[in-house]
Amino acid sequence: MKRLKEKILKEGLVLSEDILKVDNFLNHQIDPVLMQEIGQEFAKQFQQESVSKVLTIESSGIAPALMTALELGVPVVFARKKKSLTLTDSFYESKIFSFTKQEINTVVVSKKLLTNEDRVLIIDDFLANGQAAEGLIEVVKMAGAHLSGVGIVIEKAFQNGGARLRQAGIRVESLVEIASLANGQITFK
Ligand code: 5GP
Repeated sequence: MKRLKEKILKEGLVLSEDILKVDNFLNHQIDPVLMQEIGQEFAKQFQQESVSKVLTIESSGIAPALMTALELGVPVVFARKKKSLTLTDSFYESKIFSFTKQEINTVVVSKKLLTNEDRVLIIDDFLANGQAAEGLIEVVKMAGAHLSGVGIVIEKAFQNGGARLRQAGIRVESLVEIASLANGQITFK
């Protein structure tokens, strides 16, 4: 996606060899026009899949997931980081290691919101080592739902998440693939 690449080059900050900060348009401040284009692009790519629900994880996946769901005309569900929920047996639960925070989060999705009749499209902001996507895939499996695919705004192709998911036969579509962040330089694949 050309506009996304331009935005990353103009406003992205390379924090280290493996972390890109995009707080200006995706992770803190959100560019709604860009999110709309992202939603349109994902909707186009997955339009043949008869998606019934978009699934993401709070908080940074919500903006692109919402715009995709709007285009597809379906609801979006976001996995919530579990805090003081006690009724665990009415939730699908998955443990996800956060790459950026270096901590394990337990995320939950209400059993009422995902069923074995759903065809689920997972959307997230970044793909690094694949833990977030795998945790969401686990939730889809627990619900007995069909996984239509995974849509990623920015894939860091030098990390192994994308390769692992694709090897497992999962359709992964990334709008932008970054080959390297070495020496403070953003290099696209
Ligand atoms: P993974 O679970 O694939 O290792 O990492 C993906 C998750 O970590 C995403 O949900 C995203 O929030 C966060 N993340 C991973 N890499 C980056 C990065 O370079 N920049 C930002 N802002 N978030 C990242």
